[in-house]
Amino acid sequence: MSFIQSTQADKNTYDVIVVGSGAAGGQTAYTLAMEGARVLMLEAGRKYEPASETPMMQVNSQAPLRGAGTPEKPFGFWDATIDGGWDVPGEPYTSASEDPERQFRWWRARMLGGRTNHWGRISLRNGPYDFKPHTRDGLGFDWPMNYQDLAPYYDKVEMLIGVYGENDGLENTPNSPAGVLLPAPKPLVSDLLFKKHAAKVGVPTIAGHRAVLTTRLDHKRLPALLHPGNTKAQKILAADMQKRSACIFATPCGRGCSIRANYQSTTVHLPPALDTGNLDIVTDAMVRAVTKRADGKAEGVVYIDRKTGTEHRVRARIVVLAASALESVRILLNSGVANSSGKVGKYIMDTVGAGLSGQVPLLENMPLHNEDGVDGLHMYTPWWLYKEQLAGKLGFARGYHIEFGGGRDMPGMGIASGLEWLNGGTYGKKFKEDARRYYGSFFYMTGRGEMIPNEDCYAELDPTVKDKFGIPVLRFHWKWSQHELGQAAHMEKTFADILDVMGGRYARKPQAGNKAIKQGGVIIHEVGGAIMGTDPKKSVTNSFGQCWDMKNLFITDGATLCSNADKNPTLTIMALAWRSADHMLSLMKKKEL
Ligand SMILES: Cc1cc2nc3c(=O)[nH]c(=O)nc-3n(C[C@H](O)[C@H](O)[C@H](O)COP(=O)(O)OP(=O)(O)OC[C@H]3O[C@@H](n4cnc5c(N)ncnc54)[C@H](O)[C@@H]3O)c2cc1C
Ligand code: SF4
Repeated sequence: MSFIQSTQADKNTYDVIVVGSGAAGGQTAYTLAMEGARVLMLEAGRKYEPASETPMMQVNSQAPLRGAGTPEKPFGFWDATIDGGWDVPGEPYTSASEDPERQFRWWRARMLGGRTNHWGRISLRNGPYDFKPHTRDGLGFDWPMNYQDLAPYYDKVEMLIGVYGENDGLENTPNSPAGVLLPAPKPLVSDLLFKKHAAKVGVPTIAGHRAVLTTRLDHKRLPALLHPGNTKAQKILAADMQKRSACIFATPCGRGCSIRANYQSTTVHLPPALDTGNLDIVTDAMVRAVTKRADGKAEGVVYIDRKTGTEHRVRARIVVLAASALESVRILLNSGVANSSGKVGKYIMDTVGAGLSGQVPLLENMPLHNEDGVDGLHMYTPWWLYKEQLAGKLGFARGYHIEFGGGRDMPGMGIASGLEWLNGGTYGKKFKEDARRYYGSFFYMTGRGEMIPNEDCYAELDPTVKDKFGIPVLRFHWKWSQHELGQAAHMEKTFADILDVMGGRYARKPQAGNKAIKQGGVIIHEVGGAIMGTDPKKSVTNSFGQCWDMKNLFITDGATLCSNADKNPTLTIMALAWRSADHMLSLMKKKEL
């Protein structure tokens, strides 16, 4: 079994159809196929082969515009995202409001592996508080599960994909069991500088957690922990783990990793799942809707072959939507299923984002030194003001973490531009001296905060606009609440305080309100739209992502998240997907599905 054509898929029978091949689809298909279920994966984007397509070693001078971002490639010429971005040709979405502050921006990747080929790989566990936010402050919704329910799946995902970090035992920032995390990379000079000065204003700094192999995975120990009693799966996984190299500390992760040292669905989930012989993948398969059997259960899906324009129908015992939160919402709305609660499309969330960068004289004219490390944060600051917030001292609910960094990245377009605010504008020899002096002395801090679900943020089908396949598109409604605006202002003030004690200077003053906060969707952590819960009248699925109205229809992407903690969501999406897949397997074994 492997990559097949749509005409072949039509003839086969499957236990499970999985729509989408990113973090959610990859994890769902992996767990099911490794444990013996026959799976068909349908992916709207094209086939993508990281080993041959990843531009790991190319330098910016080899690219048009020295690799700078363009509307087609917003994250630069060498970025891994193909056929995607803020705009996908022929596949629009709309906004109900003309006001930019009320608009939502939607990043999509149309390729095998989805956004996991590019993502930042920051992998943080939600903590116990994050599962019961309503109980803590009366806002939003509690999850229909506890941290303890998901913890074993966080362990599994971390062991499978490989996550570096340390156990710091800080409040609501869970430790992983011994032997799960890989060693964190050494702090950079700029990290140490941040840590030293941030402590002066009461801000803690700990090792970052990212899905990058700082050492090779232990192929002798881990497979038995991940697939107990399943020798076939263990053998396949052990062989595959040996094909993954450790990070070489030299190339930008956003281009993807051909040596498989970071997590991408295409390099971690799909290869072993394909090796089981239980997984078929059809790429260029744009799913339009879930189809219904006479008994009200899901029959399968209908999809359009992007290459031929033909429509196809496939059937299975279970259908899983894992097309990314809002694409799954769109499929549900276009199918007219699973919505007796009227909650499909409601409570969409992003992460609160604000940032401040500055220049730090202490980092000027640094002698050349070893800056070995992964391409991404070595350290970060988890939310630290839980007690003050609970005591009502902050004026907004929920927290944020800080991602920060400095150092000498590979020079790109505009490397020494915009120095006028520091040197008043220089030319010739002086300009060259300034370029050397300031290179590596800039420092950024960005906040990533929790958004509380609200009634003003939702997606619905646009009544008139359709995509190039004739499928109705989503129309977004968006409004930040005072909590998010207050949080963004707090971020900016904190960053300014830290920069001040570092002796740094900033080009623009810290801001507040809508000036501080990034537009909805811009942080690309969109979740919600088909939230889980305990009450079928108020939610779309149970804690396993199983739709209340259609017992054999599951959602395993971020659509089911009923809150969006400050922790970047993808590790949680994968842990939930593994848990859902286990539930499907047990229901199939019991012949309940
Ligand atoms: C620049 C960037 C940085 C990020 N950094 C981080 C980070 O550091 N940490 C973190 O936790 N998260 C990060 N994210 C977010 C992360 O990428 C997503 O949370 C994650 O990929 C979600 O997984 P998914 O499977 O739901 O969606 P995706 O990875 O988007 O995969 C969905 C797949 O479904 C396919 N699909 C869509 N519609 C259909 C359809 N109708 N039929 C068939 N297939 C369909 C798509 O083509 C795609 O391949 C980042 C994202 C971006 C873009
Ligand atoms: S920094 Fe490491 S993990 Fe990232 S792309 Fe380079 S080798 Fe791969």
